[in-house]
Amino acid sequence: MSRRVLNSQEMVMTNQPSAEPHAPSEPWAHGGVRLEAVRDCPLCGGGGRRLVFDRVRDCLDPSREQTFRYVQCEACALVYQDPMVIAADLPECYDGYHTHETETLPASFTGEWGGATKWIRGGVLAHKYGYEHLAPASGALTLAARALDLLPAIRSRARCGLGGGAGGGLPRFSGEGKALDIGTGNGVFAATLARLGWDVTGVEFDEVAARNAAECHGLRVLVSTLEDARFEDGSFDFVSMFHVIEHLPDPVATLREVRRVLRAGGRLMLRTPNFDSLTRRAAGRYWRGVEAPRHLYLFNRRSLTRALGEAGLRVVAAATTRGGTRYYVEESLRFRAAEMGETYSPRAAAARAKFQNVLIRAARPAGLLLGDELHVEAVR
Ligand SMILES: [Zn+2]
Repeated sequence: MSRRVLNSQEMVMTNQPSAEPHAPSEPWAHGGVRLEAVRDCPLCGGGGRRLVFDRVRDCLDPSREQTFRYVQCEACALVYQDPMVIAADLPECYDGYHTHETETLPASFTGEWGGATKWIRGGVLAHKYGYEHLAPASGALTLAARALDLLPAIRSRARCGLGGGAGGGLPRFSGEGKALDIGTGNGVFAATLARLGWDVTGVEFDEVAARNAAECHGLRVLVSTLEDARFEDGSFDFVSMFHVIEHLPDPVATLREVRRVLRAGGRLMLRTPNFDSLTRRAAGRYWRGVEAPRHLYLFNRRSLTRALGEAGLRVVAAATTRGGTRYYVEESLRFRAAEMGETYSPRAAAARAKFQNVLIRAARPAGLLLGDELHVEAVR
């Protein structure tokens, strides 16, 4: 990846020949982060690009006056910041970032599983997801659990609220049950894995978040990036990476490291905002998934599949998750209203989310992924 570091003065004067004839954002206030021009597409090396968002502000920090710009590669569909925040200034983008809140798991989940919960959950997880260590003592109970699993009200609880099928967050138990959660944040997902019997390690570069996750959920969390953690080859049966890849300066390099620490046949579960989502199409640069300047890249199914392929990982499932739409629509409309000086209407947002969910469901059989959050599983 060849980039040239520019100071803000130079940047303002620079026009990239391969980009649309569109002047970069106007000069920013002092204290802005430094940006560098991206010469070629970081994923495919292509030079062709089109402008997709200009003058994007930080939706989480209205006091940040600097604006950012995103382009899309014409060859591989990857969307990237251009100019991009230089690696040395990335920490400055995370002042007061939101992963410092703690969250507890519901008591029904963390407490001792007793009676019906125990055998229904155990029966379903053992039979359908390979969690043999949770299987009820008798085969008759497993059969009964499988029958009860047909009831929607029980189905979700049996899967610990993680959802089954395409886009669900419940991994199949495999190998020795060694799991790595990259970008552990407040630790809720890692704690869920641990409760299901996985031997979980977390990596989180934010020290406060890592400490919260460790103290709140009793997890083993390294304050580190994946690369600096230096795990041995093939250490893990399962790796989760939720809302991390869009933040990384070199996504393919990190995915290669994921491949290295996965055992042969091990699985990666990855989530990231979906650039092809309906909300993005409707909200444009106000889409919650943009989150400038922290999101350096925005993927769609095609570019993400390519990035994984470059790293030697084969995609085996792709979906968009259910349930995220409302959050993305609300946050996008709230940001837009604030920027335009308009009044935000929660009722209009709720109605819009409902309508979009109908469209998202309708498009799914045709293989169109229109939800806001891409969910991809890949194997080594
Ligand atoms: Zn490209």
